[in-house]
Amino acid sequence: MNRLLLFVLLLVLPVLAQAQKYEFTHDDTLRGSITPERAWWDLAFYHLTVRVQPTDSTLSGSTLIRYRVLKPGQTLQVDLQRPLRVLRVEQDGKSLAVRQDGNAYFVTLTKPQKPGQTEAVTVHYAGKPRVAKRPPWDGGLVWSRDKSGNWFIATACQGLGASAWWPCKDHMYDEPDSMAISVTVPEDLMDVSNGRLRRVTTNSDHTRTFDWYVVNPINNYGVNLNIGRYDHWSEEYNGEKGPLSLNYYALSDHVDSARTQFKQVPKMLKAFEYWFGPYPFYEDGYKLVETPYLGMEHQSSVTYGNHFQNGYLGRDLSHTGWGLLWDFIIVHESGHEWFANNITYKDVADMWIHESFTNYSENLFTEYYYGKEAGAQYVIGCRANIRNDQPIIGIYNVNHSGSSDMYYKGGNMLHTIRQLVGNDSTWRQVLRGLNKTFYHQTVTTNQIEQYMSQQTGLALKPVFDQYLRSTKIPVLEYRPVANGFQYRWTNCVAGFAMPVRVCTGESGPYYELKPTAQWKTLAAKNETTLTIDANYYVLSKRAE
Ligand SMILES: [Zn+2]
Repeated sequence: MNRLLLFVLLLVLPVLAQAQKYEFTHDDTLRGSITPERAWWDLAFYHLTVRVQPTDSTLSGSTLIRYRVLKPGQTLQVDLQRPLRVLRVEQDGKSLAVRQDGNAYFVTLTKPQKPGQTEAVTVHYAGKPRVAKRPPWDGGLVWSRDKSGNWFIATACQGLGASAWWPCKDHMYDEPDSMAISVTVPEDLMDVSNGRLRRVTTNSDHTRTFDWYVVNPINNYGVNLNIGRYDHWSEEYNGEKGPLSLNYYALSDHVDSARTQFKQVPKMLKAFEYWFGPYPFYEDGYKLVETPYLGMEHQSSVTYGNHFQNGYLGRDLSHTGWGLLWDFIIVHESGHEWFANNITYKDVADMWIHESFTNYSENLFTEYYYGKEAGAQYVIGCRANIRNDQPIIGIYNVNHSGSSDMYYKGGNMLHTIRQLVGNDSTWRQVLRGLNKTFYHQTVTTNQIEQYMSQQTGLALKPVFDQYLRSTKIPVLEYRPVANGFQYRWTNCVAGFAMPVRVCTGESGPYYELKPTAQWKTLAAKNETTLTIDANYYVLSKRAE
């Protein structure tokens, strides 16, 4: 082989391998982008009506979609994933022409759609929904049974999308202002969904219908069904916005352990209201609902399958011992009420907005009850789980999320930024301010970056670029010179000039250095090492 050709191939092959890793289909674009058939209308309200039939694992029902016309458009995209199918779509009682393209349905509206007006379509559907393979990560419907042989059914669809079990506009940028959920189940079972239970109707065909109502905007994967023979109890929590109703649902067999374990809920609320501001859905209440899978941040009905024990299935993800003092699922999934349900990503590529802040919330919970040092140990301990395999931010417009580093590395990025702020009350105001400024909104990474830079007065853009958009961890390189050190940042993105606290020798008073990519000099007598404050997620290297 020609040597030049070989050289070119060696250069190109890794690029090709990288490109192959990300192959996206036409379906991914329909699912992941704001298509013209989505952009012209704005969700106002959903009424999901669904009948759940465990004996043949089918669903049937409809979604009424009420929307505001933003600009002219006569074709409307609705999503429903195979093997479920749309039976018909109606507007004002008239059936409409529908063209299916994979998991998307394009509805031709005959009535002129006038900007400013509110219209509605009803999408009827039926079939056997995809069965979850490894919920909640590989989701769908979970058809299981409790120890006594009763049906125990749930939905989990983050990433996969709500259209795996009900027809909707399956993109995160748009949320309805409110939603009704009417679920019909066999009469010996009950359904727990989102918001508040308004009515239970006993039907003549040995079924019951549970009517739930959510008065706040809700993201599509936050909507859920939980069906089983539940015991129910409740209490009231006196929070920042007044009385908040807490409702708990556990299988009858587990009710004693659940009643003990769920006592952590008011503790969680106290810590998170302190750090993040009021629970964002007082009107809908808070529920904790037992499920046959580990758990998920379903809005106002957080789901729980952590076996009523502390830690993450009994393990401490931080390897420090602090994670065994509280229930990971109660703390983490509820933390998402602020970061995921209150502040929601527009595109799943920005999923760090949910997971980095919520991973970080675990250490703030630890700090609230066990002190600042304990919280710091927790978040630093989580670094052992970081992979630095791919950037945290995924690829936009194709329903692609980035590296699982969005959890532990994202948490450590936030902990590092807290060091830069250097003032705990300012930092807490930034966290509370995020929840106030972006209250019930869908957002982009840029909005969060800009807000945090403005509120802290720090030039955080290169810091976000470093940790969210590259896999490189900054290295503080230093070398002893006569009467001191020279130091600089390496392995970093252009413009990275993050200040860092160091001491000379192994311990001692810490002071701030302001390294850049260029060598700078620090005067220090009789010392040969620099030690970085462990709260910063950076590395150091002594050059000779
Ligand atoms: Zn999470």
